[in-house]
Amino acid sequence: MKVFDCTVIGGGPSGLSASLTLGRARRKIALFDDGTNRNRVTQESHGFLTRDGINPQQFKELGLKELKNYPSVSYFNTTITEIIKVKDQDRFIVKTPNGQEYITEKILLATGIQEIFSIPTIRNYYGKSLFSCPYCDGWEQRDKPLVVIAEKEEHVLHLTKLVYNWSQDIVVLTNGIQLSKEGIAELQKRNIQIKSEAIKALIGYDGLLQKIEFVTGEILHRSCGFVAPSFYRPNHFAEKLGCEVKENGKVITDGVGRTTQKNIYIAGETEKSRPTSLLISAAKGNKAAVAVNTDLTMERF
Ligand SMILES: Cc1cc2nc3c(=O)[nH]c(=O)nc-3n(C[C@H](O)[C@H](O)[C@H](O)COP(=O)(O)OP(=O)(O)OC[C@H]3O[C@@H](n4cnc5c(N)ncnc54)[C@H](O)[C@@H]3O)c2cc1C
Repeated sequence: MKVFDCTVIGGGPSGLSASLTLGRARRKIALFDDGTNRNRVTQESHGFLTRDGINPQQFKELGLKELKNYPSVSYFNTTITEIIKVKDQDRFIVKTPNGQEYITEKILLATGIQEIFSIPTIRNYYGKSLFSCPYCDGWEQRDKPLVVIAEKEEHVLHLTKLVYNWSQDIVVLTNGIQLSKEGIAELQKRNIQIKSEAIKALIGYDGLLQKIEFVTGEILHRSCGFVAPSFYRPNHFAEKLGCEVKENGKVITDGVGRTTQKNIYIAGETEKSRPTSLLISAAKGNKAAVAVNTDLTMERF
């Protein structure tokens, strides 16, 4: 069976960028992607130099098209369900849901993160009316009447202050959480309205928010804004492979993608379990790929 030099799991900007770098370094690469990239819910991505406003699917297709120039890169549109270390060998077996197995010397985890919303229906509006990153989507919401939905005081204050840069017409919704006197004073000095009633429903159609209904029966008409989700790594590959992981979910690395386990590398948002951006994730993929290639070079020279 063919042995790949490296298997890249995840074809977001980090995995695509890593695969490009490794393909150009003539490495035999298997890239797996199952289409669950975090930004799949939105229509436009912003801030990636030369690609401002590009559709996320188009971004991925452009990345995959570039990889076709490098014959040592194989792309598989499927999920990796399991990674098994072969005993006493520098080899791993990666498995797909249909029972296919692939052998690889190194693994690069680039599987991203996902959101958790305390109000599940937020997901219906996420990426169309409600966003989490003002740098990504603030420009399009500039000067509009906005909501900021967040439930921890630190998140409320951080996100609201940031969003204020793009629009000063903000209603903060804490969904039943009371802010401290100091927190309230900070927002009120900028005439920001705070509604701490629990939210009953978000109402709209086809991802377009129209209004928010509170348990009190009150209705707030707002059609866009920002939310502060929690984030998590959607798999335990790093833990199962024995990589050291901090309590906060951050996988310990040497700063360029090498984990504490030989032959296991990590790149993109999944490393710190925190959101960043397309550009930063792509840069991290490039860095980790250089680490993979450096190690392969030194081991084999
Ligand atoms: C609504 C929204 C809007 C955004 N807008 C912007 C923006 O305008 N500009 C910007 O810079 N950033 C934006 N972002 C953030 C951006 O999407 C992320 O920073 C970026 O996608 C992170 O890249 P990544 O490679 O780490 O992870 P991802 O892009 O999430 O890619 C991870 C990939 O791994 C794959 N995968 C996961 N598990 C497996 C598995 N077991 N087997 C196979 N494949 C697997 C998934 O299919 C996915 O494609 C936005 C995010 C959201 C949610």
